[in-house]
Amino acid sequence: MSTKKENREAVPLEEREYHSPSSGIFFKVKKILYRDKSDYQKIEVIENECFGRVLLLDDLVQTTEKDEFFYHEMLVHPALVSHPSPQNILLIGGGDGGALKEILRWPIKYACLVEIDQQVIDVSKEYFPWLLPSLEDDRTELIIADGSEFIEKTGKKFDIVFIDSSDPAGPSVSLHESDFYEKLKSCLNRRGIAVSQAGSPFYHLESIKKKDAFLEKLFKNVCFYTSPVPTYPGGSWCFVFLSDEVQPLKIKRGPPRGLKYFNLNIHEAAFSLPNFLKDLGSGD
Ligand code: SAM
Repeated sequence: MSTKKENREAVPLEEREYHSPSSGIFFKVKKILYRDKSDYQKIEVIENECFGRVLLLDDLVQTTEKDEFFYHEMLVHPALVSHPSPQNILLIGGGDGGALKEILRWPIKYACLVEIDQQVIDVSKEYFPWLLPSLEDDRTELIIADGSEFIEKTGKKFDIVFIDSSDPAGPSVSLHESDFYEKLKSCLNRRGIAVSQAGSPFYHLESIKKKDAFLEKLFKNVCFYTSPVPTYPGGSWCFVFLSDEVQPLKIKRGPPRGLKYFNLNIHEAAFSLPNFLKDLGSGD
């Protein structure tokens, strides 16, 4: 039988995520709500006084109750204000449900969530209040599968595909490769858009450059944009908007009400890049 002292010691004081060998972020742990290893990854939910519930996969922060809106609104709404009338949406990854919640704010017909890890869905249903109502929405279909295999086999076409994957490690490696984007292109309708998270402009610049190099060969419009995300490495995050026909700065409609971060001024500003990101393809 464990003593009270042992129980106290089992709860670490801090959860740390390393962003480089010598820097990172830490969260004081008020309580560990969940900790287990699924078939794919280590899953943890902790409680932190400032950020509320924090979801970590393999020791990397995925989302927090307090700052999720920066990332999820900026992943989803730029494409939705740029497309003339999106109806069928595919979301790859995103098992925490934050991106799905944002997609469902729009009057779309169908949202298909393809997540590899059923356990992320089960845990998020329990600890993040937005997932369950989004899954119960009549427009949502949940498919537990590898996103890369799914797009290879599905005969369906989509107006917008969002890739809300974890960073390139473990099960998500294939979602960051050129092969995946080639297959993805054949799932897009004529005016289709794909948007993916692309990592930290500071810590992951090399991988952003590599991605840009192969994406430029596949899509006419390869438009990187950024947003603050307080709990992600460096505090600023990069996304990429891909399309042959649609340009992000030709806005087609306004965003839904009730957003905390995104608006049309933010949209335009997000595509203005700092100099070190502007000339990705120039080989500098
Ligand atoms: N915004 C987050 C980030 O970058 O920190 C991503 C959050 S979301 C929780 C990432 C999800 O992608 C995880 O639930 C993970 O299980 C899922 N995932 C990873 N590889 C996948 C794959 N090959 N197919 C489908 N889903 C995948």
